[in-house]
Amino acid sequence: MDDLRELYQEVILDHNQNPQNFGRLEAATHSGDGYNPLCGDRLSLTLDVRGDSVNDIRFSGSGCAISKASASIMTTVVKGKTVVETESLFDAFHKLVTTGDAGDGELGKLAVMAGVHKYPVRVKCATLAWHTLKNCLSGKNEVAKTE
Ligand code: ZN
Repeated sequence: MDDLRELYQEVILDHNQNPQNFGRLEAATHSGDGYNPLCGDRLSLTLDVRGDSVNDIRFSGSGCAISKASASIMTTVVKGKTVVETESLFDAFHKLVTTGDAGDGELGKLAVMAGVHKYPVRVKCATLAWHTLKNCLSGKNEVAKTE
């Protein structure tokens, strides 16, 4: 499990132990579930979208530390962003966890997930929350799968 120890930076461990925005929104405008069969990570998102901005977001579910920390960090980053901005962040984040390229700084605290690119099997854990978010925002009423 040495690879995981290297991956589990302090920030990731902290988000895993004290997840931000954990729970469900009572008055959600969008919701959706995600499942990563490779690892068994399950995730539910509820969102309050006003106009074209993410006013509030919560996540719940159970999964490995990477999936949970990634979801927690994602909720803190996308809150207040427009839908278009979240799509752009998803593209940048996907590039980060598949290549390690943190781009021009747009990613901010998401950059702590850069180490994931060295462990391809963990990429699906890290992107599960983002795939689920994308599905929610596009109104697709189906379980987001990482496969
Ligand atoms: Zn996982």
